[in-house]
Amino acid sequence: MDINFRGTLLKTKTPQRIPGASLITSVEDLPAVLAASLSAEERALIQKLKTSPLPLAVTTHFASLAAPERDDPIRRQFIPDPLEEADDPFALDDPLGEERYRAASRLVHQYRDRALLLAGGSCAGFCRYCFRRIRMNAAFISSAELEPVLAYLESSPGIREILVSGGDPLTACDGKLEELFGKLRNRRPDILIRLCSRVPVTYPKRLSCQTIDLLRRYRPLRVVTHINHVKELSPDARTVLASLVETGIPVHVQTVLLKGINDNAETLALLFRECLNLGLSPYYLFQLDLAPGAAHFRVPLKKGLALYRELERQISGLALPVYAVDLPGGGGKIRLSENAIAVEENGAFLLKGHDGMLWKYPIE
Ligand SMILES: *Cc1c(COP(=O)(O)O)cnc(C)c1O
Repeated sequence: MDINFRGTLLKTKTPQRIPGASLITSVEDLPAVLAASLSAEERALIQKLKTSPLPLAVTTHFASLAAPERDDPIRRQFIPDPLEEADDPFALDDPLGEERYRAASRLVHQYRDRALLLAGGSCAGFCRYCFRRIRMNAAFISSAELEPVLAYLESSPGIREILVSGGDPLTACDGKLEELFGKLRNRRPDILIRLCSRVPVTYPKRLSCQTIDLLRRYRPLRVVTHINHVKELSPDARTVLASLVETGIPVHVQTVLLKGINDNAETLALLFRECLNLGLSPYYLFQLDLAPGAAHFRVPLKKGLALYRELERQISGLALPVYAVDLPGGGGKIRLSENAIAVEENGAFLLKGHDGMLWKYPIE
């Protein structure tokens, strides 16, 4: 079955297809053991979410890694949980405040020497804690949308790095990627391309030899992927990650700290050591963004800090990512430490941003 998403919030409703992907969007298509493991509440929620911005969506590959137990670290990442419907007074529709730094319809320029291209396209599965859910299902960037981005990059030589994110840019076909990278290179031969994609673990077969060769030709290019648990490192995922590295494409790993999935030092140590052995660099461990419907994944900040201290004692500096948070509402990324907390006030911490301003993050 090919995927065919229905975007509900966005104007652009071109159905997105991942070349060759089998994407599961209904209970009947889940592996039988998983379908049988669903509670009545989970089934009802999956039905209800069909017309929401973030319906059930998972690749057959990722679903095959899940065990039927409710607390399985893979299952929890894509099976909707009735707790998503709980009210969260801290939730923000645009948790990173990306709208504040919009330089073009598809470009976010928040940090001096790097900018973020929202290339669009769908994702190879929907993470239940997604912070960019309101933008999911935008069509892949068109030539007309790319032009102002290229003009901005050309007139801003201070920007030395372009993050290509989405959705997931690797849900586009090679032809579209080639066109995008070709135009970027043509206008800015010097720029470093940072390709942000979860495809290496959610749909590793997408990274064929041809695709990896395509990426190689647009170096300097680095891949930043997203891995939360060692179970995601399937044999196929290990193979493509290793070929990227062998091809001369450095791979960095971002991990989201998720309650009940990876919120203990042993689980994270195992993941980061395994990444290191595969030649990947653990980059960020993120405190959860305040997306609506994700509060049940939030690890209290104080617990996160204690866990990170423990991790520092357990693993090599090479395996240790930076513990960070994107300050809710647009304060930017900061490194988390006890010193980041300015005060505690009405159920929230006030965290110090780089500009000295204070930003609210919940205590629990
Ligand atoms: C995270 C992010 C970056 C990259 O920041 P690094 O600290 O270099 O990883 C760039 N732009 C935006 C808008 C971001 O959110």
